[in-house]
Amino acid sequence: MTFEDLGLCPQILAALKEEGYEKPSPIQEQAIPPALAGRDVLGCAQTGTGKTCAFAAPILQRLNSNPTSNHPIRALILTPTRELAIQIGESFAHYGRHLPLRCTVIFGGVGQAPQVEKLGKGVDILVATPGRLGDLYQQGFIDLKALEIFVLDEADRMLDMGFIHDVKKILKWLPKKKQTLFFSATMPKEITDLVNSLLHDPARVAVDPVSSPVEAIRQSVYFVDRVNKTKLLALLVKDLDVKNALVFTRTKHGANKVARDLTKAGITAAAIHGNKSQTARQQALADFKSGAIRCLVATDIAARGLDIEELSHVFNYNLPEVPETYVHRIGRTGRAGHGGTAIAFCDFSEKPLLKEIEKLIGRSIPVVEDHPYPMVDLEAPKRDKHGRIINEEDAQARAAAKEQRRARDAANKAAAQKKREAAQAAAQPEAEPAAPAEAAAPAKSRRRRRKSKAKAQEVQAAPVVQAAEPEPISQDKPSSHRRKLTRPGSRMETGDSMPRTNFSRPDPLAGDHIMDATARLLAPRKPLSSHETPAAPRRTSSRNRRKEHLGEKAPQAQASAPSKKAKTAPAPKKKAKAEEQAPAKKKSRRPDHRRSRGPRGPIEPMRFDRVKDSTEQKSLMKPYYLDN
Ligand code: AMP
Repeated sequence: MTFEDLGLCPQILAALKEEGYEKPSPIQEQAIPPALAGRDVLGCAQTGTGKTCAFAAPILQRLNSNPTSNHPIRALILTPTRELAIQIGESFAHYGRHLPLRCTVIFGGVGQAPQVEKLGKGVDILVATPGRLGDLYQQGFIDLKALEIFVLDEADRMLDMGFIHDVKKILKWLPKKKQTLFFSATMPKEITDLVNSLLHDPARVAVDPVSSPVEAIRQSVYFVDRVNKTKLLALLVKDLDVKNALVFTRTKHGANKVARDLTKAGITAAAIHGNKSQTARQQALADFKSGAIRCLVATDIAARGLDIEELSHVFNYNLPEVPETYVHRIGRTGRAGHGGTAIAFCDFSEKPLLKEIEKLIGRSIPVVEDHPYPMVDLEAPKRDKHGRIINEEDAQARAAAKEQRRARDAANKAAAQKKREAAQAAAQPEAEPAAPAEAAAPAKSRRRRRKSKAKAQEVQAAPVVQAAEPEPISQDKPSSHRRKLTRPGSRMETGDSMPRTNFSRPDPLAGDHIMDATARLLAPRKPLSSHETPAAPRRTSSRNRRKEHLGEKAPQAQASAPSKKAKTAPAPKKKAKAEEQAPAKKKSRRPDHRRSRGPRGPIEPMRFDRVKDSTEQKSLMKPYYLDN
């Protein structure tokens, strides 16, 4: 079968030819005709089978057959990770290069302003991760009323990562009448339920079930002690003439260490995992794709998302806890029928995991016995007092993380102490107090710091992938509400690259703060006599200050020569007020939002019910089966 046989238009056929695609992959053969006909499609396929083209080509063709001038969002592709989102965006850009359609990608972990700007210019196709879509939709930047086609990509992975509720919420925002293309590598019950509620008489297409690894991959396993794994890896990368290899480790700490050790051994390598910033990850991936680095060491975050053509080797440096993960990992090589090699390292403690994998794939993986680092450590794994196996690598990772935390806490503590001392020095009662301004100042400077950090972050942010740079079109001017939302102060940064503001707040347990609170609680409510009044600086209202400025005496300043009014008014009440005002100066060291929110106080930035963002959630970096 050819792409022409599938009924694709000449512009798309030309683009596919330019991509070097000679014939459709099985999923494309099965999915493109019904999708072109407007039917719902249920595709059981994983990344690497050509499924992106299977949904992108029909979407492009259907939208192009009915063009619009104002470019409302007519197709939405929801995908779990930013890496996948970017790749899908790139695919749309490639397949649609001869069409006048616009595509934009939105994902978390980067500033939203450039994405909002692109959305404002109008896009036909939106590729999104659930969290950022939710954020921008709830802020009113996304209108889905004109949606015609919805794609749910890697639905099972959304479930794994705990985003299925976000997805269900988003589904409620979509028009009832639409075409749905649904892709999932596996079909657990929750996914089947979703399929039944979402799809209408779908065309069912299935290729490469997850439990049958691609035949073209040459698999082997090396039994090797944990301590010798990096040496064996470096040796194999050199000896087997590895062109480019993806190396999977269990922990982020492990990924960093392996990348470092490979570099020391003279092999270009970089680590890619959830603790790396978006920019660092994209850079590492770009270097790997360009051949500037030979080994990309990854945790499982990269397992299913990375689209790297002609990956020659996959190394399972650690065997995964969940056998299906092995299949996903090795699926990164042998893409679209290309051959590939998958090598697994197995130490003594990992033998049960190997058994599980072999059970899943229904065959034993050939063992390579002839190598310089044969396994000699046959000791049963150590167990903790609860009888659980102690994984030394995990323990190392935890120790490294603990060390980092300790250093960060110490730095924060020192900063807090410094600030406390500075605040105490500033609180010496000589200056004329200006309580409201003082109270607002720390909050203001914090906001300013946050703002400048967010700005710096935005400069670093990766550009949004676009199929075609949207031309400026006449659009409704943003409402005042929207304008308010786009204030820099209300911008929400998310994910790895989120500016980590160091809120070096005073320690709430510090003695003087406790005293403040306790003193207020215990302070006698009954009036004090004048000689008991503490010599604290008096607070002067702005009206009184004005009066003083004009040479009049402020009422409190007239205590020694009480006026007629003061005589009639119960004096103790005033003194009690003065008592209460005295500690107020101390209180003002901490920003009191209640006070600063007066009628003329600074307006608090609007808050939104934050939607979890797949790319900023811990769970993204940590699918349920991961332990790092
Ligand atoms: P996907 O499963 O969509 O992530 O695609 C995996 C890889 O296969 C991508 O690098 C595509 O460029 C490539 N690919 C998709 N369809 C074809 C095809 N018909 N012929 C050759 N390569 C393809």
